[in-house]
Amino acid sequence: MGILYVVGTPIGNLKDITLRALEILKSVDLIACEDTRVTAKLLARYEINKSLLSYHQYSKLQKIDLLISELKNGKNIALVSDAGTPTISDPGDVLVNEAYKNNIKVIIIPGVSACISAISISGFNTNEFVFLGFLPKKKGRETMFKSLQEEKKLIVFYESPFRIKKTLSDILEKLGDKEVFVARELTKIFEEVYRGKVSEIMEKVKEKGEFVVIIKN
Ligand code: SAM
Repeated sequence: MGILYVVGTPIGNLKDITLRALEILKSVDLIACEDTRVTAKLLARYEINKSLLSYHQYSKLQKIDLLISELKNGKNIALVSDAGTPTISDPGDVLVNEAYKNNIKVIIIPGVSACISAISISGFNTNEFVFLGFLPKKKGRETMFKSLQEEKKLIVFYESPFRIKKTLSDILEKLGDKEVFVARELTKIFEEVYRGKVSEIMEKVKEKGEFVVIIKN
């Protein structure tokens, strides 16, 4: 039986990768990734030549079957996503689940995650938080905001540049003028953080790049 390694990769700065992750990426038989072009760029940076198989949670189950049968045949596979920790708002959980069902060993090679990175520099009390991934765009959005009115913990979620202003304005309207922390483009050239009342931040925030939003309760 092979081993399935779940490998964390950078969220921007390609130097944010562990020595162990590089060692594993060099040693496995196959790397299962989201977008082969994104992973190829990372591998090129570290001169790693490896077969890549584009894997997507929503692609046909045959792909999972193929990876599981490779693992059963003794091949070691690394699962990576385009950025950060696989399966955190990213595909891969179905493969990991199938691996356990087939008694295949799963090993984590920990790396960065945008969620944890943002929380750790928010300066808020981080003892307890709820992570929502991406918020619903339409269906369920209203109900979700209603349920958040009762939330006492930090609320953390991912947001896109196309909806950041709308979401901040929804927070103001539905939850009040909360204290927020917005992290944009962490570890990248245009890295920026905003901290303050949501009413102020919605005026300042640039609608470009990738975002993590944290609401203080
Ligand atoms: N698996 C990833 C992780 O562990 O961080 C998250 C993948 S999810 C598909 C991508 C979202 O994460 C982006 O839309 C953005 O909200 C957030 N994100 C990823 N990289 C980021 C960065 N460098 N700065 C801020 N947010 C980021």
